[in-house]
Amino acid sequence: MHLFVTGGSRGIGAAVCRLAGAGGHTVSFTYGSNAAAAEATAGAVEKAGGKAMAECADAADAQALAAAFDAAEARFGALSGVVVNAGIIGPVAPLAEMAPERIARVVGVNVTGALLTAREAARRLSPGGAIVVVSSAAARLGSPGEFIDYAASKGATDTMTIGLAKELGPKGIRVNAVRPGLIETDIHIDAGAPDRAARLGASTPLGRAGTAEEVAETILWLLSDKARYVSGALLDVAGGR
Ligand code: NAP
Repeated sequence: MHLFVTGGSRGIGAAVCRLAGAGGHTVSFTYGSNAAAAEATAGAVEKAGGKAMAECADAADAQALAAAFDAAEARFGALSGVVVNAGIIGPVAPLAEMAPERIARVVGVNVTGALLTAREAARRLSPGGAIVVVSSAAARLGSPGEFIDYAASKGATDTMTIGLAKELGPKGIRVNAVRPGLIETDIHIDAGAPDRAARLGASTPLGRAGTAEEVAETILWLLSDKARYVSGALLDVAGGR
């Protein structure tokens, strides 16, 4: 497989890249600004047995994103799967206290970025291809008092997934979303609550936070032929939360 992953340098995206590499697959991935992390992930993919290419491209920048897709196809050939993963969060706050700029950036990356990435995927994938959108359990929980802007952005990607699965199904392309719960990654630092996943994870039905690898396993399964009759699904990977 040749996979394209947005935000593949750290967290869940990096776990997807590493797992794909371990399966002998090729991964082209983007990142926002942290070149050192991207280099480390590309190295890990190659060490695991795969091929990798990292490109700096803001998911919300249509031109940069299209150029990254072009570069991936020029280097490694046609894509078989796309993971719409890049996403951001702002500091924990009630909606009334959020600055308009923060809301615009969250929606810009998480909604516009997801639509633009899925648009590129829809233009480039062939029959047999698959898209996985990384949504969040926040889409159904709403995240009151924490980040309603983020939760609403993930509601939008769920709707995109449902629509695009119907649009692309007749072309032989499957579209699904995973909705991770509390997963141990750096995103919680950005929310101003580094211990958030461990703290809240303890009170979930499975009694712990999840790992990026556990989400990556589900994503790789959805991309694989083993999930060939699964499309339009919003799959919770949230420990029963
Ligand atoms: P993370 O650890 O903060 O990693 C984010 C990744 O996205 C990094 O590789 C980052 O690259 C990249 N990125 C950020 N902004 C970008 C942009 N504008 N354009 C391109 N790449 C960008 O986050 P994560 O926890 O793995 O989250 C990945 C996805 O899972 C997100 O969509 C998130 O909403 C979702 N999710 C996470 C959790 C959780 O508990 N962790 C739960 C539910 C859903 P740089 O380092 O270069 O910025």
